[in-house]
Amino acid sequence: MNIEQLINCKNGDKVENLTGWVDSIRDHGGLTFVDLRDFSASIQLVFDKSGEFNTKLKNEYYISVDGSFINRDKSLVNSKVFLGDYEIEVLNLRVINQSKTLPFQIENDIETDENIRLKYRYLDLRREPMKVNIMTRSRTFKSIRSVMNELNINEIDTPTLIKSTPEGAKDFLVPSRKSPGNFYALPQSPQMYKQLFMMSGFPNYYQIAKCYRDEDSRKDRQPEFTQLDLEFSDANPSIVKSNIERIVKFIFSDAYDCNINTPFNTLTFEDSMNLYGTDKPDLRIEETLIDISNIFAETEINFLKDILDSDGIVKGLHTDSILTRKEIDSIDSDIKELGSNGLGWFKIQNNEISGPLAKLLNPEEKKEIQKFGTGTLLFQAGDLKTIGQFLDFIRRTIFKPSSDETYSFVWVEDFPFFEYENGELQPSHHPFTSPKDDEVFKEDPINATALHYDLVLNGVELGSGSQRINKPSIQKLVLEKWGLSDDEIEERFGWFIEALSYGTPVHAGFAIGIDRLVAEVLNQPSIRDVIPFPKTQSGLDPLTNAPAYIDENLLEEYNIKYISKDE
Ligand code: ASP
Repeated sequence: MNIEQLINCKNGDKVENLTGWVDSIRDHGGLTFVDLRDFSASIQLVFDKSGEFNTKLKNEYYISVDGSFINRDKSLVNSKVFLGDYEIEVLNLRVINQSKTLPFQIENDIETDENIRLKYRYLDLRREPMKVNIMTRSRTFKSIRSVMNELNINEIDTPTLIKSTPEGAKDFLVPSRKSPGNFYALPQSPQMYKQLFMMSGFPNYYQIAKCYRDEDSRKDRQPEFTQLDLEFSDANPSIVKSNIERIVKFIFSDAYDCNINTPFNTLTFEDSMNLYGTDKPDLRIEETLIDISNIFAETEINFLKDILDSDGIVKGLHTDSILTRKEIDSIDSDIKELGSNGLGWFKIQNNEISGPLAKLLNPEEKKEIQKFGTGTLLFQAGDLKTIGQFLDFIRRTIFKPSSDETYSFVWVEDFPFFEYENGELQPSHHPFTSPKDDEVFKEDPINATALHYDLVLNGVELGSGSQRINKPSIQKLVLEKWGLSDDEIEERFGWFIEALSYGTPVHAGFAIGIDRLVAEVLNQPSIRDVIPFPKTQSGLDPLTNAPAYIDENLLEEYNIKYISKDE
């Protein structure tokens, strides 16, 4: 019997074989009180020492008891707690299994190092907050399956030992023993396979898919994550977006008991960057960035002059509050950590302007800055892509959400087809995304727009999708413009271009990050807290010690040899 079922008992009812973990033990002279906890709830057990309970119980022993369900003495009632009005007077006790001394207590708030929690994740998951996280994740899966059935979307699976799907990360590789010297890649996403389903004639597809991306420790990313992956035939972005809105609305209502408003707002990438400095804007905050480049058109401040002369901009945010030096220094050090050269600021108080650069302002500039009124003007100078991330951070630090909406969704679309990442040209989504206009792409690929749309929730990218290329010639052209040689195209994507060549329907799709969704809904600081067995920031699993050294003899079977680093 589980503890939750006791709610149907009446005072004096017999209880048999109630099982659970010893949560805490309190000795009170002739009586011992034990909180018994199972997955569903907890209840107080009372042991009368005059009875035959000579077994010494310890925390996390798994026990089974028989006894009577009784109303607690009025003075002992704890009505704040489920079943806090009752207790079990124990008649028989059986210890099913003992527990070693715990590495940390099974309590809601613990300060244990995350590595230790991950090493003993099975114990960490016994803690109530983790149980809530994982059960919310589980409810999310259930709701996904319900809404997919309701919308008649087919669950189809795709292989995980594959060639390679470029999604902008490195692949995890799996050596093939039967084909020595060759490797499979684990999918960065099921992208090409889901498109193949459309080529095969399936009207739609979904999968709760595991994806693997070997990225250099990016903040709050996991090497292995889970996404709701979808594809629709004969579809365009607006069909996909309205399907996604229905799906998200259903999940929020069914799994999280929360009504969200649809349709979601839409922003273009350009507007999003100009107004918020990011393509993942948090729209619960009203304030937007202000372009103050004009104010400094004739500036004597050398670094601003240099930046403006080389086509840079100066953008800032004005808050009515006078930030303290400590607040300013803290923002300054945080954005420096993100890569900024430092925070520019002016305080405006009684029409006086202060700040490290105040002395260098000419009268015209002073006048313009005074117009902002009492408060603090914080700014960054450079190119929008670089300074945007710092301004986004500043915006989210100095302003609190003003909207009542807990969940603010927005579509961001009209992304540039290509972007430069660390000096290299990359598709801003993936190379299977259709250009908005094929002719424009042919003429000026660098400045072309992609039919790519992102869904952003509270400043977090929840998902991405696109209209796909369905013409082999355009697919080849995109790969060429990306910089691949004919041989590379043939070797990596020849089979896919071939597959596109047999009457491929128009198709489009989307993927929603499930870990991110659950973390956002539960307001968890990290996706690690909503993944049952996550890896550490450096990709390790402290529980099993993966990844692990493989014996050289075994490696030989795979035709692989260790080499020392300097060889
Ligand atoms: N394959 C994409 C991703 O995993 C999603 C999509 O375009 O459908 O981000």
